Amino acid sequence: MIIYPNPILRKKCKPIKYLDTEIIDKMFQILSKTGNGVALSANQIGYPIAVFVYSLGTNRGVVINPRIISKSKEIIISEEACLSIPGIIGKVERSKSIIIKTINGIETIGGSFAIIFQHEIDHLNGILFIDRIKNLEDFTHIKGVLPDEVAERFI
Ligand SMILES: [Zn+2]
Repeated sequence: MIIYPNPILRKKCKPIKYLDTEIIDKMFQILSKTGNGVALSANQIGYPIAVFVYSLGTNRGVVINPRIISKSKEIIISEEACLSIPGIIGKVERSKSIIIKTINGIETIGGSFAIIFQHEIDHLNGILFIDRIKNLEDFTHIKGVLPDEVAERFI
């Protein structure tokens, strides 16, 4: 797992033309080993390609070259954590639903998946959930010390 502040997490991922099933298998394996993770972007394990996988209950899937084409105006507050940023949980504003375009076409995503997809599509664009936290109080749990880069934003 690539851990923050590794610069790999800040690079924008490239769209792919064909699917390397070995990478996908590896992503699902690593995701299931985390125990509590629900999704993983390829760049979190070092592949700079625009792919993420998710596994939530009986729903599993691979999302390739996703792009958000529209977001609902309605916002919800989601309490998020990230496999690449251990020990930090914080409240982030997300759109309640999104419309995305992927290699498979256009799809509307709502519910828990809307949150997961926004978090992962951010990853593919080099954005982390901590970037979207607006107030120090929105960190609901910090194990250890808040990274300097993050703490400086609230001084
Ligand atoms: Zn994450």
